[in-house]
Amino acid sequence: MATAVVIGASFAGLLSASALRRRGYDVTVLERDVLAPDTGPRDGVAQSRQPHVLLHRGLLAIESLLPGVEQDLLARGGVPFNTGRMPWFGEHGWSPVNDWSFEIISISRPVLEAVVREHVLAQPGLTLESGARVDGLERDGDRWRVRRAGAEPLSAELVVDATGRSSRLPHWLAELGVRVPEPDTIDAKVGYACRAYRVPDGARLGLRTGILVASTPEHPRGGLALPIENGRWLVCAVGYGDDRPTRDNEAFEPFFRSLRDPALSDLIAGLEPDGDVIIHRQTQNRRQRYVDASDWPGGLLAVGDALCAFNPVYGQGITVSACQAELLASEPTLRAGPLGGAATRRLQRRVGAITELPWSVATSEDLRMPTSDGELTAVQRASLVWTTRLMRLSAAGDEACVRTFNRVYHLMGDPKLLFSPPVVRSVLRSVVRGVPEPLPKPEIALFS
Ligand SMILES: Cc1cc2nc3c(=O)[nH]c(=O)nc-3n(C[C@H](O)[C@H](O)[C@H](O)COP(=O)(O)OP(=O)(O)OC[C@H]3O[C@@H](n4cnc5c(N)ncnc54)[C@H](O)[C@@H]3O)c2cc1C
Repeated sequence: MATAVVIGASFAGLLSASALRRRGYDVTVLERDVLAPDTGPRDGVAQSRQPHVLLHRGLLAIESLLPGVEQDLLARGGVPFNTGRMPWFGEHGWSPVNDWSFEIISISRPVLEAVVREHVLAQPGLTLESGARVDGLERDGDRWRVRRAGAEPLSAELVVDATGRSSRLPHWLAELGVRVPEPDTIDAKVGYACRAYRVPDGARLGLRTGILVASTPEHPRGGLALPIENGRWLVCAVGYGDDRPTRDNEAFEPFFRSLRDPALSDLIAGLEPDGDVIIHRQTQNRRQRYVDASDWPGGLLAVGDALCAFNPVYGQGITVSACQAELLASEPTLRAGPLGGAATRRLQRRVGAITELPWSVATSEDLRMPTSDGELTAVQRASLVWTTRLMRLSAAGDEACVRTFNRVYHLMGDPKLLFSPPVVRSVLRSVVRGVPEPLPKPEIALFS
């Protein structure tokens, strides 16, 4: 049977491995971390303690690849809610609270990863070797030899790099004489600081969703709180440039008092900290341009953050990895045999195309931040005039605009929807009658 080696056993690696198994490959996943069944946050995934939102499109893709995951997430204590019900203070005001958005299941990242891993490893013909650090690739005719520290190389027809942001693939390829172009990068210099909380004994919290207060170019501090399993909450401070939050426990709660609205500060005032503040600052948007390499070898693909990593505030990375795996699962050229250079490049291009929409969402928003190291293009500036009008209408409760933004945010629809007839009608109406007043702050049921 043809063999594939997937390097990295986080979301991109696990889901791609599952897809390749479906295409008939005998798959080995190599992971540098030692993974036990109850693995919590782990060293190989520095962001694993930070809150992770799985967008609705990602939930659908994972469920289609691995039926039953959704049920298991709920059984492990995941908190389901429609993000339209979540108090959400955007740049132009509060979003209306209703069901005009999509369901998510809020759960900590380690539990989400563990559930996905269990489902993937239940597939026969798929093996995970944990504690196996890959340190290079060698060519062997049409095949690859994947070098592992302290073990014999593994031979495979197909190799998938799913090693995340810290991927060494450009370096490994350089050793083989293959030059790849420099990646595109846009860095808004976002920093996260996250702390876990629990509801004190005897207290009753009425809130059944998260709360979000967005950062804006004028107010580069924001935050997010999400309920997770076991009655716990992950509360996250987000800041840009000099406003990046620190790991100082004492400075954490005051950070929330400096936001545009006290909703998050009010929430954590009634919660008890359950651990220290953990920060994360590797957040730049970075997209590899592998399809532009003139001599890209056959049988080698890059997926997930190894191919394209986003500023995480938009919550897109896992969903993109899942959509890429969905593509691989239905890809007819993957017939469990050698994949030539031209076919590999075509497939890599299609895998990369999945990053286009999230890349444009993340980078056009990030380029608005004064901390970004780039400038909006003329086209982006023109579309910003349009989307600003739509955001103001959304904050005034316009149904067409709210529904459309939610579709695009959850990667459920094309940004062309922002120019669909119902949205255009709302805009024209606002040109004639003016944009209505923003909605008042919603009632947020905190403690009783
Ligand atoms: C602060 C923060 C918050 C985020 N929030 C969200 C969110 O809300 N929603 C969302 O969808 N995404 C979010 N993301 C992005 C998300 O974490 C990633 O997109 C997602 O984990 C998919 O990444 P991946 O599998 O490509 O890589 P990673 O998750 O980084 O995993 C790479 C894997 O490869 C292994 N590895 C690396 N090198 C080697 C090697 N040489 N040999 C063997 N194994 C190796 C690592 O140990 C690891 O297991 C966030 C990211 C950050 C930084």
